Amino acid sequence: MTPDQFRRLGHRLVEWIADYREQCDKFPVRAVVEPGAVRAGLPPHPPEAAEDLEAALFADLERIIVPGLTHWQHPSFFAWFPGNANLASVLAELLAAGLGQNGINWQASPALTEVEEVTCDWMRQLLGLSTAWSGVIQDVASTATLVALLCARERATAYSQTRGGLQAEPAPLVVYATSEAHSSIEKAALLAGFGRLHLRTVATDDALAMRPDALAAMIADDRKAGLRPCAVVATIGSTATTAIDPLAAIVPIARAHGLWVHVDAAMAGTAMLLPECRPLWDGVEGADSIVLNPHKWLGVVGDCSLYYVRDPAHLVRVMSTNPSYLRTDADPDVHNFRDWGIPLGRRFRALKLWLHLRASGAEALRARLRRDLEHARWLAAEIDDTPHWRRIAPVRLQTVCVRHEPPGLSAEATDAHNLAWVEQLNQSGAALLTPAQVRGEWIVRISIGAEATEFRHVEALWQQMRALAESCVASPSS
Ligand code: PLP
Repeated sequence: MTPDQFRRLGHRLVEWIADYREQCDKFPVRAVVEPGAVRAGLPPHPPEAAEDLEAALFADLERIIVPGLTHWQHPSFFAWFPGNANLASVLAELLAAGLGQNGINWQASPALTEVEEVTCDWMRQLLGLSTAWSGVIQDVASTATLVALLCARERATAYSQTRGGLQAEPAPLVVYATSEAHSSIEKAALLAGFGRLHLRTVATDDALAMRPDALAAMIADDRKAGLRPCAVVATIGSTATTAIDPLAAIVPIARAHGLWVHVDAAMAGTAMLLPECRPLWDGVEGADSIVLNPHKWLGVVGDCSLYYVRDPAHLVRVMSTNPSYLRTDADPDVHNFRDWGIPLGRRFRALKLWLHLRASGAEALRARLRRDLEHARWLAAEIDDTPHWRRIAPVRLQTVCVRHEPPGLSAEATDAHNLAWVEQLNQSGAALLTPAQVRGEWIVRISIGAEATEFRHVEALWQQMRALAESCVASPSS
């Protein structure tokens, strides 16, 4: 494509995206296609000859792509987590691609590295973290957590890369997290070589938060058994219910036994832009690493995960390879972010966070987050005041978890009933919610925080939920 063709198609594409965003609320929230339908609309073989995209692209978008979309930017998207893609960050993504940078070292793109440094530091300030933290952007939280557990493993084994590796360790290393931790913790523990057997599930309290006494007892038992406690992953805002592990109590226990503390605040970390939310991660300054995802609630188009560490030299020691062809004279004076994570090649990811912060300003971002918290509190109060609806977890932030419990139904029938009404709601296209299992029961999560969600959307959702769930009971065979 020539720059001139790019200019013409690009202008039309930007127009198309702006129209899509303006009309997003007209679509059913969940994609209505059957599995395989998108594939069936595409030619089975790649084109031999160049196509005229100006003619074909927009038709294909309307005919094939849009019907295959679940609309994350829809104001009635209340599923999984808010996956906001603020339009300033969309433009930045285009810019990043247009600049075509690859930050394999500082010299390869000084701007890429230094904008990332500054943006990570802006975010550190906005989150209220001390200057002891150094930040880098990873692709996703799952990668950042893998990096954290690799660093934990290497610290516990005195840098086993040079001492025979993990296999040479006499005592197996143990990682601790709760049943509420995200599946990426299990994946990282497996990939980092701890093995399923040495990933402990620490008991939780009534609010599904880690019980520090249970953690301390497990560590003591493992030590007695000749094992080596290595790391604890504390979740600030669990995926299902936004449970908050008590860092202030966990950190001293971990410190006493030399454990690495990794804080998974992938979803809820954004809340720390609000000073009134920071007590939720009280104790964070004693942790070793933190991950949080601007590509969720904050509004940066995916993927963009912030990873903060207190000891960047250790991170570099674990991640660095430093072959001759990547060395430059600038190395002693700069950061080579390839040594702060797994990938060598790095996109200019900071641009989208940088432009989003500049286009919105911290004040407006804080106002939007407060709006979402207020919506969640309103919904929680409605649920509490309505017979046969039970809120199954404290509403710590923007996620509300609920179960409709009509009288006379067994636990199993209540599970089926909740799965039925939420599926009906999702199928209607009016809104999208996610069912999940908590303590063995099926519940429904309402994750509030899409950028476009206003109070009227939350109000309408609650009416739709009630209408569907309560009429489902009136005719249980439906
Ligand atoms: N941790 C928590 C608490 C999450 O809620 C999620 C995603 O929902 C993740 C980690 C994984 O995030 P990512 O998709 O960035 O790997």
